[in-house]
Amino acid sequence: MNFDLNPGESQIINQLGLLWESDSELPSIQTETEDPARIREALLSAMSALAESGYLGLGLDDGKTSTALVVAQEAMAAQSPSLFLGVEVSTRIFGRLIATYGTPEQKARILEPLQAGRMVGAVALSEGGMNIENDPLETTALFTGPEFRVSGEKAHVVNGPIADWFAVAGTMAEPREGIAFFLMQAGHDGLRAGRRFSTLGFQGTAMSALSLQDCPVPPDWVMGPFEGRTLLDRVRLWEDQILSAASLGLMQRSVEAATAYAKSHTSGGRPIIAFQEVGFTLAEMLTLLQTSQLLAYRAAWMDETGNREATAVGRCAKVFCSESAEQVASKALQILGGQGYLNGNLAEGGYRDAKYLQIAGTSTEISRMKIAEEVLAS
Ligand SMILES: Cc1cc2nc3c(=O)[nH]c(=O)nc-3n(C[C@H](O)[C@H](O)[C@H](O)COP(=O)(O)OP(=O)(O)OC[C@H]3O[C@@H](n4cnc5c(N)ncnc54)[C@H](O)[C@@H]3O)c2cc1C
Repeated sequence: MNFDLNPGESQIINQLGLLWESDSELPSIQTETEDPARIREALLSAMSALAESGYLGLGLDDGKTSTALVVAQEAMAAQSPSLFLGVEVSTRIFGRLIATYGTPEQKARILEPLQAGRMVGAVALSEGGMNIENDPLETTALFTGPEFRVSGEKAHVVNGPIADWFAVAGTMAEPREGIAFFLMQAGHDGLRAGRRFSTLGFQGTAMSALSLQDCPVPPDWVMGPFEGRTLLDRVRLWEDQILSAASLGLMQRSVEAATAYAKSHTSGGRPIIAFQEVGFTLAEMLTLLQTSQLLAYRAAWMDETGNREATAVGRCAKVFCSESAEQVASKALQILGGQGYLNGNLAEGGYRDAKYLQIAGTSTEISRMKIAEEVLAS
């Protein structure tokens, strides 16, 4: 295993560090706001600063920069989990779809401004009734002559109320059968994003439902059709990778918050870190963070080097990192005691954010089933 970064990649990580240190460049990166317009403003401001560092270009190259990507994502998620999620869905899922499957025209029109941080993307894949194989995909596209008509309901879409462009997964029957992504701009005929959801965690992210009624899409703005469900599974794996990295960033925040509190808060005249139980808890938190890092980095390195078990190990990383993030967040909250239970501190925010990581992408239960299918049964 080799987790060393090349000079260009190290430069990106250094640039990110400088970005966090400068209080003028990214004043909004810590923003946790409920106003979609302000979330969009914060996201665009963050993305344009991130674009200059080279961060937005990582991972769009078929796995060639996977290790650098996870290191950079961890740093970004530790700064602001909500902005991280918005940036990642826009770049590493929506952008990656266009980079991998888009036509030259789609790349010129969408990918360039997206990578420059001037545009926000969203991906609408999941539907409420889908099973482990993303089936049935009830959003359908009827070919009605020069264009497709796309109709369906998507339950959860990150960046839904604030995106400029959407990639919507649907099933087409003609001219060929298969699954495709339909590209539509905000304000497109028949496309309506619902009101922003109020959520347990990631409260600085704008998420909504998405309704599509007879949306006209010309064939030039369709990616696919692709046979089978491999594409959808691939997109879920991209999402899983993001959520593993988010878990690392959340754990870093929890460990830092709990360590700082344990050193500064006193009980009976002694800093609480002096009590063995508190020290042991911090040690367990650090062990979970370090172990998660190793597994996530290893999964990334296996992806980068084309290892045939990369997918299974990526799934193991998603399960382990996301479950560890919840445990570490819970321990941090315990160390902060009554102070931790108050709204607005890193420990309680991390505790609320952590649960999402096990639900979204490939859920923990489904990941375990797939690991068993892919590795243990082979
Ligand atoms: C905040 C948020 C943001 C999201 N953003 C997006 C987005 O931007 N784009 C997008 O496309 N989707 C998005 N999603 C959807 C997300 O990917 C799905 O919620 C996730 O895939 C789980 O699907 P579900 O909610 O339908 O749960 P279900 O699939 O109904 O699962 C419910 C429970 O049953 C378990 N379960 C289901 N099937 C099995 C099985 N066969 N064996 C064992 N256990 C099983 C699951 O693990 C889970 O615990 C988002 C979700 C949330 C909550």
